[in-house]
Amino acid sequence: MSCVFNNPLPIPVLGFCAYSGTGKTTLLKQLIPELNRRGLRLAVIKHAHHNFDVDIPGKDSYEMRKAGAKQMLVASHVRWALMTEDALDSDPSLPHLLKQIEADKVDIVLVEGFKKLALPKIELHRASHGKPFIHTHDDNIVAIACCDETQTPADLIRLDLNNVGQIADFVVQYQQSWQAPKVALPIDLASAEVPQRGQQGLSVAQGINHILNQVSAITTTEMVDLDLLDNRVLARDCISPVNVPQHTNSAMDGYGFAYSDVGAAPLHVVAEVLAGHGYDKVVQPGEAVRIMTGAPVPQGVDTIQPRELCDTQDNQVTLLDTANIKQGQHVRLAGEDIAVNDVALSKGTRLGAAELGLLASLGCYQAEVVHAPTVAVFSTGDEVSQPGETLKPNCIYDSNRYTIKAMARKLGCNIIDLGIIEDNETALTAALLQASAKADIVISSGGVSVGNADYIKTVLAKIGQINFWRINMRPGRPLAVGQINNSLFFGLPGNPVAVMVSFLQFVQPAVRKMAGEQSSTGTQPWQPHYIPAIADEFLRSKTGRSEFLRGIYHIAADGQVHVRSTGAQGSGMLSSMVTGNCLIVIGEKDDHIAQGQSVFIQPFAAVL
Ligand code: AMP
Ligand code: MG
Repeated sequence: MSCVFNNPLPIPVLGFCAYSGTGKTTLLKQLIPELNRRGLRLAVIKHAHHNFDVDIPGKDSYEMRKAGAKQMLVASHVRWALMTEDALDSDPSLPHLLKQIEADKVDIVLVEGFKKLALPKIELHRASHGKPFIHTHDDNIVAIACCDETQTPADLIRLDLNNVGQIADFVVQYQQSWQAPKVALPIDLASAEVPQRGQQGLSVAQGINHILNQVSAITTTEMVDLDLLDNRVLARDCISPVNVPQHTNSAMDGYGFAYSDVGAAPLHVVAEVLAGHGYDKVVQPGEAVRIMTGAPVPQGVDTIQPRELCDTQDNQVTLLDTANIKQGQHVRLAGEDIAVNDVALSKGTRLGAAELGLLASLGCYQAEVVHAPTVAVFSTGDEVSQPGETLKPNCIYDSNRYTIKAMARKLGCNIIDLGIIEDNETALTAALLQASAKADIVISSGGVSVGNADYIKTVLAKIGQINFWRINMRPGRPLAVGQINNSLFFGLPGNPVAVMVSFLQFVQPAVRKMAGEQSSTGTQPWQPHYIPAIADEFLRSKTGRSEFLRGIYHIAADGQVHVRSTGAQGSGMLSSMVTGNCLIVIGEKDDHIAQGQSVFIQPFAAVL
């Protein structure tokens, strides 16, 4: 049985299948109370063959449905029922029916009928009935319940058809050990196979892994002042020299007192404590202080009541709404954000606004960071001209160098711009050798696809070790990656959109790794991030290649992220990158995404 079962629910679904007359319903009627006794909350879906009706003529719900309501929902305080008129030519779709189940109300869905579907099932078999087996031609049978005289294969779990308790135990165990299938990401570095020798074309994930294997993190570091730390990567853990907050302080403007005084007579206000000041005596029983946000909480005080919930007269304060006062409320404890000697920021963190604020809050004025990678960029091609100069006939302006430089800068790199290098071997060799002496990464665009004049490949072969790859992706198929001296070399495709997409997929992870980025959560920071979105239109792709469509996502009226393509997807159309705010990523396994289906997107925000 080949069709796959896509369970749309976060809970397991288990079918019971048998030839009619085996006693399926009888068994389920006994099994359900057994399962309830074991604490399992159940939903049951039953396939009915005929034009069944659950309502009775004369009932309002029946009459309204027959009068033409396609859906009729009848509800009381005890139960509700939804009846839907859905005349189909064939069997109803089980995934569609499953979506009607409220998965937060039950632990498992039992399905009776739908014998032919590829969902996990228990086969019920009664030898005396003389019917054939189902498990012999259905891989989805997880167990067989039968009688003593029945022979079953050794690898199939066997249950006693007449022992309902045993079958119930099996269902409970099935429910407890069930795991929701992992979401399949369109590009998954962890599950990509190592490329075979001589393999034609690499998947995107294989390409990224191959590149990451060639990259090592920069180990040299420097001390940099707080004001210049933005976008740099921490070279060592930052250990907090202090408690944050330094003192236990008030989170409100209000009155501070001991919780044990709640409900006592009005409290005597003995002082006013302002932020940056203190009260150096101990607040006694029956006393309170007027206290401001951020002011240190004096000894003897453990609870704060906001000012608007207090009544003051002269030096007396009456606490209002005392039933809702909780001990310790509105008190920020010393070290509750970061305790002294805690790791405040871990090695490998890329520093942004929040991290700089945190460093400042610890009193750190400098931090040790990894040297920023230096990226050298050049363009090739007889037709490629410098912006600002008059465009010669049949030529184009160089846009790739500018998109590459901007993306590399956003990733915190220093840039060396080598300009447009003329089409001759000597010039190119000189430029590449010079670049590789100064740069950690050298990036070119154009000249690496199959039909190109060979000289760039010849030069690269002479002075470096370069692989020319065909990546199963669109846009951006050709990609050259290798080493010139100690620099990593990327030969990106020529088409402007292909350049940007290839940079995002391949150069970005390499730069992040080289820059020393690490994440404390275990996932590597260069693993692409995806957000699921609902496709608002049919999206075309092709199996065997990853598609990176330019998309526009937005939050629609239903509160969900929706996405549509920017329209024409030519790999030279930079305007699609301007109009778009994300890449729509369709993995190698899909040849299209239907309208309304979920698809993964990569928002541009981080690098563009
Ligand atoms: P190539 O891979 O060199 O055959 O280039 C593919 C396409 O990209 C051609 O249409 C080139 O004109 C274009 N192209 C190459 N380099 C650049 C560049 N630096 N800026 C803009 N377009 C370019
Ligand atoms: Mg070219």
